[in-house]
Amino acid sequence: MTKAAVRPAILALALAMALGMLTPDAASATDQVAAVASTTKPVARIGGNPAVGSTLIALVRAVPVHAALSYRWNRDGVRIDGASGSRLTLAADDAGARITVTVTVVSRRTDTLRVTSAPTAAVDALFRVAPTPTIAGAAAVGSVLQATTAPWRPAATLAYQWDRDGAAIRGATASTYRLGTTDQGARIGLTVTATRAGTVTTTRSATATRAVRPAIVTSDPSLVSVLVNKRHPLSPLQYVPADLMRPNVRGGGYALSRGAATALEKLFAGAIAAKAGELSLVSAYRSYAYQSSVFEGYVRSRGRAYAERVSARPGYSEHQTGLAADVVACGANGCGTMSAFGATGQSAWVAANAWRYGFIVRYEAGQTAVTGYTPEPWHLRYIGLTLAREYHEGGFRSYEQFLGAPAAPSYR
Ligand SMILES: [Zn+2]
Repeated sequence: MTKAAVRPAILALALAMALGMLTPDAASATDQVAAVASTTKPVARIGGNPAVGSTLIALVRAVPVHAALSYRWNRDGVRIDGASGSRLTLAADDAGARITVTVTVVSRRTDTLRVTSAPTAAVDALFRVAPTPTIAGAAAVGSVLQATTAPWRPAATLAYQWDRDGAAIRGATASTYRLGTTDQGARIGLTVTATRAGTVTTTRSATATRAVRPAIVTSDPSLVSVLVNKRHPLSPLQYVPADLMRPNVRGGGYALSRGAATALEKLFAGAIAAKAGELSLVSAYRSYAYQSSVFEGYVRSRGRAYAERVSARPGYSEHQTGLAADVVACGANGCGTMSAFGATGQSAWVAANAWRYGFIVRYEAGQTAVTGYTPEPWHLRYIGLTLAREYHEGGFRSYEQFLGAPAAPSYR
């Protein structure tokens, strides 16, 4: 631009700013000098969002031609050391304060002028802790995904938005999301937005799920995903697995479905390799007829109420699927009992590591109202590697919760 062209441009800028047509960022492209008749006193104001991390800009209008401007920024009226530019990026120290800018205007034509802007609103703080959420649950049609997040600091109101391959899902704004058939093959994501008065609204996004699989089949007892509890008997009631075999482990003599049997061999070996100690198998597949005698035995010896808490009616036992194993800990003095297992190092190792072999501890402490059974740290249920990993990563406490299935405290 020639010198003659500069002045009309500046005038246009000043007019646009006076009319509120320019955002601070647009104004800054030409820097914030504006000029009008020198009889008017300069006016300073602050553009930008008063929030930690944002940049404020000093906007001055009615500046005499060829005037030199200098700036100082103030936090609640107290000069901020080193803040002498036309812009100020707000730092954590500024949170809650009101910011002003004082502009000194030096011109050959007038006396030196000093003008101070009106204060900003109190500066919004950043969240001190803004955790990234995670998605728990099985990535399968029909399953329920759960948003989990560590606590925000300070405490925030959280809003959720689930997305399908990056596109927001209409109405999916709760902390849980049940996967439908339209989700099959897609990756499901989640964004959490945290709000709090006086704090910068902040979003965090979870890593999306793997591609959503078809529904988990819970009714077919030949599948590792079968659900068996007091609401879900085996079907048929006298089901017998077709692929029973005896795992090559201590306490052999009990049979499991083939996949569960080989996985149990690896789990027992893994415990020894990890120096957690030896395990022994004390029960596995039980036929309908045998379960009937076990259950009736409890009823005769301890009464029906006791039997219902610790044992399943025939046709309702996981042991009949060939996917459940009861284990005990063994040491120098031989093997312990099931009831002693929970206090052993082997039990702690199993609780932490069984998922790596495709097993879960099926009846955890605190879950009786869901599973229908008192805690059984010795009862391992094979659900396969994929489901067991998702179960572990989601921090689930019962297979019912994992599947989004209703609690099964008692028979229908
Ligand atoms: Zn058992």
